Amino acid sequence: MANLFDTLDLSRHGARVFAQLPDGAAATYADVAAASARHAQALRACGVGPGDRVAVQCEKRFEMLLLYLGCLRAGAVFLPLNPAYPAGELDYFLRDAEPALFVCEAARAEDSRGVAAAAGVARVETLGDDGGSWGALVATMAPDFETLDVPDNAMAAILYTSGTTGRSKGAMLSHGNLASNALTLREAWAFSADDVLLHALPIFHTHGLFVATNVVLAAGASMIFQPQFAVNAVLAALPQASVMMGVPTYYIRLLDTPAFERRLVQHMRLFVSGSAPLSAEVHRAFSARTGHAILERYGMTETGMNTSNPYDGERIAGTVGPALPGVSIRIADPVTGAALPAGEVGMIEIAGPNVFGGYWRMPEKTAAEFRGGWFVSGDLGMIDARGYVSIVGRGKDLIICGGFNVYPAEVEAALDELPQVKESAVIGAPHPDLGEGVVAIIVAAELGFDDGAALQAAIADRLARFKQPRRFVFLDEMPKNAMGKVQKAGLRARFAGSFG
Ligand code: ATP
Ligand code: MG
Repeated sequence: MANLFDTLDLSRHGARVFAQLPDGAAATYADVAAASARHAQALRACGVGPGDRVAVQCEKRFEMLLLYLGCLRAGAVFLPLNPAYPAGELDYFLRDAEPALFVCEAARAEDSRGVAAAAGVARVETLGDDGGSWGALVATMAPDFETLDVPDNAMAAILYTSGTTGRSKGAMLSHGNLASNALTLREAWAFSADDVLLHALPIFHTHGLFVATNVVLAAGASMIFQPQFAVNAVLAALPQASVMMGVPTYYIRLLDTPAFERRLVQHMRLFVSGSAPLSAEVHRAFSARTGHAILERYGMTETGMNTSNPYDGERIAGTVGPALPGVSIRIADPVTGAALPAGEVGMIEIAGPNVFGGYWRMPEKTAAEFRGGWFVSGDLGMIDARGYVSIVGRGKDLIICGGFNVYPAEVEAALDELPQVKESAVIGAPHPDLGEGVVAIIVAAELGFDDGAALQAAIADRLARFKQPRRFVFLDEMPKNAMGKVQKAGLRARFAGSFG
């Protein structure tokens, strides 16, 4: 029985710096302990009790992390929302979540208040550059709070999935889920109080919120808190950092920057990538430029992190590494659920203390995604003889061409190796004879290149005929969301007419 806040035990690190902030200020662990107490007091003053949801939709603000910790301490359920959601989507999330309190961005308060009122939210506060109404209330509170004792399975947060394959689902995560993952990752990635994490990720998503923040807190380490990923700010901060976590696009953008040189990162201990597949090509290019092998790991909103390439040991490009300690992974037949042997492709299924309790107010969806105690991830992959997991694509992105399965990741890997290709995304489009035909969306290494026939010829002897794209589309930029996830559903809709 433990509140995650007590597990993290900030009191061990009092005077150490937890975060260096964009305005040059620093917040120590003692500051964070006091501020999170004030937030918890303010929640109580608003009548927010254990189990009540606190929805937050703001720009990336440090106060959001303090509010997150305040929610933990008060037993309330932290529920962050992507600031990119427009009013129509915000309406869905607020009606679904029924928060007792909604904290919105001051600059957008008028619109947000309107949506919240229509959705029946009783209390709305703001966060802004001047602190906002929530900041003003928090400032009047006492800096101490007795953290609530809660059982491991008490809900700590509802995090909505990214909505890549359909409408976002609210994943209910418990104090125990988050604690187990934080402690496991601290060990797996050898975090210590000496570490300085460069934090440029959003904090409405599991990567920047739970992986990055909880691991730093659990280690008594510190972070350089940047409001977003901006190449120049990242280059300027790297000399002070020891670890960086990012999505693959961050690493692609750094490689595109000539000033990103080996000497800037020679002192670094670790680069971590996740949330979307890191191509083996980018992994190789990064290692050639910097001497660092990016550590790729695999996780989901519903589970936190499941696998990781080793900190000590071989980091294999194109794989997400073995299951983390305490996490069980198996590959199952997608239809029957029977376990499959090493080397065979099937559904990735997960069990362990990290796995969420279910989807918020979606009992049927929850029941459908658990099979005999295993959570059905929706990702297809295989496990090799050494236990390393490779992801071959999402179940929903599988292409069936003339009766044969085509795994997009395999075709993308072959395309990414070609010097003319910077990035690729492979999708299926309805085909009159084959059921589906393979379409390759390409961002070329050089602007203006659009020679699909040349690419076709270059992969002709690398991929079986049925896997080869029958159509090439060239785009200037790959459509991705804030987490660098390629929006394949959108691409499928856009290029549905590829074969007539
Ligand atoms: P939704 O579930 O709403 O469709 P989503 O699955 O994109 O959206 P997240 O929980 O943010 O929402 O993302 C988890 C997914 O991201 C995984 O299921 C997997 O498909 C993908 N992913 C995460 N890390 C990796 C990785 N290292 N390599 C490949 N895919 C990854
Ligand atoms: Mg998902």
